[in-house]
Amino acid sequence: MREAEAVIAALEGAEAAMLLGSGMSAATAVFLALAPGDHVVVPRVMYWALRNWLLTDAVHWGLDVEIVETSDLDALRAVMRPGKTRLVWLETPANPLWSITDIEAAARIAHAAGALLVVDSTCATPLLTRPLALGADIVMHAATKYLNGHSDVIAGALATAAPDDFWTRIRRNRSMLGQILGPLEAFLLLRGMRTFPLRVQAACAGAMELATRLANHESVADVLYPGLAHHPGHDIARRQMQGGFGGMLSIRLRGGEAAAIATAAHVELWKRATSLGGVESLIEHRASIEGAGSPCPPDLLRLSVGIEDPADLYADLDQALRRARP
Ligand SMILES: *Cc1c(COP(=O)(O)O)cnc(C)c1O
Repeated sequence: MREAEAVIAALEGAEAAMLLGSGMSAATAVFLALAPGDHVVVPRVMYWALRNWLLTDAVHWGLDVEIVETSDLDALRAVMRPGKTRLVWLETPANPLWSITDIEAAARIAHAAGALLVVDSTCATPLLTRPLALGADIVMHAATKYLNGHSDVIAGALATAAPDDFWTRIRRNRSMLGQILGPLEAFLLLRGMRTFPLRVQAACAGAMELATRLANHESVADVLYPGLAHHPGHDIARRQMQGGFGGMLSIRLRGGEAAAIATAAHVELWKRATSLGGVESLIEHRASIEGAGSPCPPDLLRLSVGIEDPADLYADLDQALRRARP
């Protein structure tokens, strides 16, 4: 496990990294290192299971959880309570709309109020974005996804530029709450990380090609991908992401929810499944999964682009979109 932690620390330019039993355990370990009554600010668009935990268990435990559209920096500034807000959580690009938050600007806003900035960088990966260099205090990864890349490990990672008392409390939680990673998972994760840059580069190139082609598809009303010039976060993404815009994108269908569900049913090369960041391409109708309170529109399909030939991936989507036409 220490070897895998050293690789992640090097990838993030961090002083220290720690591995935990899942992405969710990495995220919850951070929030549980706070104290009941602490005010935390979290994004409107974020990984649904963590949002769900924050709005139920974390609130029950005593955290004062405030949701804001973090990509709107004025809105973020407006909810900060200097001296009271302890932590700002970001996800960028954010599931499943792929909205972009300016990490450097958010770090300034958080620090001015005396809060920590923590970034879920799972979908950006350390190849494309290094949040610590942009001012974040802690970066979190679901290593289940791109770091491992083979959809056969569940793991979480945290990395920090300054291993302080807060970091020590998180480490303590990892032991006391039984959130440590198993040795076989650490071994498999190291295996996966050997091909990490190759896989992420292939996924970025594939996603860019698919986004561009799908934007011209007659069944597609909109493509949500920060690599496209019309995406509202494109300029910030160009600054804070290097070498690509990630392997995740979503499409919204002219035919609405029924066409979205039918398209996911008709694909053959894409796999209909949750999760993301593996070598195989996945498609999912997120609104069915996320339920009440989700910002995800019902006509949306989330695509995790793997390392297959993008031409094959497009051809498969194209036939499924045609068959799904109302
Ligand atoms: C998958 C994921 C998580 C949770 O990771 P698990 O290992 O599945 O618990 C957290 N954040 C993001 C962005 C994810 O994609």
